[in-house]
Amino acid sequence: MFTISGKSVFGGVAIGRITFYKRNQKVIKRSHVDDIDAELKRFHEAKDKAVSQLKELHDKALDDVGEANAMIFEIHQMMLEDLDYLESIENIIRSQQVNAEFAVATTADNFAQMFASMDDAYMQGRAADVKDVSERVLDILCGVDEGVHEMTEPCIVAADDLAPSETVQLDKSKVLGFATMHGSSNSHTAILARTMNIPAVIGLGEDLQPSFDGKMAVLDGFTGTLYVDPDEETLAQMQEKRQKDLDQKALLEQLKGKDNVTKSGQRINVYANIGNVSDVGAVLKNDAGGIGLFRSEFLYLENSTFPTEDQQFSVYKQVAENMAGKKVIIRTLDIGADKQVDYFGLDKEENPALGYRAIRICLTRPEIFKTQLRALYRAAMYGNISIMFPMIISVDEIHRIKAIIAEVKAELKEEGIPFRDEVELGVMIETPASVMISRDLAKEVDFFSVGTNDLTQYTLAIDRQNSKLDEFYDPHHPAVLAMIRMAAENAHAEGKWIGICGELGADLELTEEFLKMGLDELSVSPSMVLPLRKRIRECE
Ligand code: PEP
Ligand code: MG
Repeated sequence: MFTISGKSVFGGVAIGRITFYKRNQKVIKRSHVDDIDAELKRFHEAKDKAVSQLKELHDKALDDVGEANAMIFEIHQMMLEDLDYLESIENIIRSQQVNAEFAVATTADNFAQMFASMDDAYMQGRAADVKDVSERVLDILCGVDEGVHEMTEPCIVAADDLAPSETVQLDKSKVLGFATMHGSSNSHTAILARTMNIPAVIGLGEDLQPSFDGKMAVLDGFTGTLYVDPDEETLAQMQEKRQKDLDQKALLEQLKGKDNVTKSGQRINVYANIGNVSDVGAVLKNDAGGIGLFRSEFLYLENSTFPTEDQQFSVYKQVAENMAGKKVIIRTLDIGADKQVDYFGLDKEENPALGYRAIRICLTRPEIFKTQLRALYRAAMYGNISIMFPMIISVDEIHRIKAIIAEVKAELKEEGIPFRDEVELGVMIETPASVMISRDLAKEVDFFSVGTNDLTQYTLAIDRQNSKLDEFYDPHHPAVLAMIRMAAENAHAEGKWIGICGELGADLELTEEFLKMGLDELSVSPSMVLPLRKRIRECE
């Protein structure tokens, strides 16, 4: 068995044979032409044919992947009619007296390089598009455009990379999954794979070899892994995983778009927890109403040095934009305790869970905190972002946070950098202290989110990391439930909303209890959104 790791673009498990995508081979040579007008005419005829092929592809994509995604083929038509692009090709033919193939290939390379060197990830992704449309014109010029890729049985399509047009042209009923050596998760192929609900893994690199053609494989789109010639154990595990995924998808079919409402009409928001931009796909796929907890510290954990303001800004902006107006609650960094980062240079502690962590770091190292807050207030321009603070134990901490926010806003204003002034602020209720003073805290903030993982740890005085204590770590403990109830009553007494973002929110045995407490939101892992919705709809 070969195991190859890449980057997941769309979850799901595909089991089947690999078909390596073969392209029509063509060699582009530079040759001298005498009749320039005839060559220009040849180019324009090829370009017109390419445009009409793209029109047909657009119509096919409309049926397969819907209007928003089919639009790429309209953009491709526009790219072919782009005056700069046409002028470049015509100039090369005229000034160098060369064949149209050479002029198109040269222009495609130049434009692709220009896009690839841009800072913006979206524009970089357009390099693949300009190459794709140019390949189409070249195929027509070289007379190799008629071959359609035939697949006789459903298979995992492997390729060095797949252009959007190649992806759409494939017979969808025969594609179990996509596995490519290269590609970016912003590419339209990745977007199309997501929309077509097909497991896809990109960036598998040179380990993905054409010699795998015809071999049995398992593609795990959740972890971004391709198993070629899987052993029996892997195959059995993956079959089980696939079945679970299919059950989840069946649930989705049944519950997508439905309200989180009990039989008697009580409503509750069901949001999802994420640690990364790449989780947003799963949030949307599972029809969550928003993001109830974005653990921003993962950005710090994945980096070898402090993520810059711009790096953070682009991540938060992307999440907010992808969620298209739905609520995105971003928790400021919760480093320390079990989440250690070398470059923070934190001392070793006797009791890290009771130590220098989360808001305590932010308030004593404001330069780190301010960088994150600047990124958050800037990104809030692009969607419905709320900010939440972890490990709060006092009202004074909220005052200190607000003072730092005021400084950040004043600085952004002075620098003329756009930001949103009014951002909803909340605190995590995850210490007994925060529960006991929740009435006062509720006066200061817009919402509460209960972190039951830590609240259980601190209420029961049990290290959540110590597996020896698992039998004692009881999140159903009446003390924990009483804490949640008290926080809910105090939030509501001040007209504020309250949710749960710890693991307990997904505990279906407690859903009814949480509804009785009047909680306004439960934020759970994306895969639990629909089972929770099902449970809510069963409650009286
Ligand atoms: C919690 O403590 O319940 C929580 C959601 O935060 P984390 O698990 O990241 O500490
Ligand atoms: Mg916590």
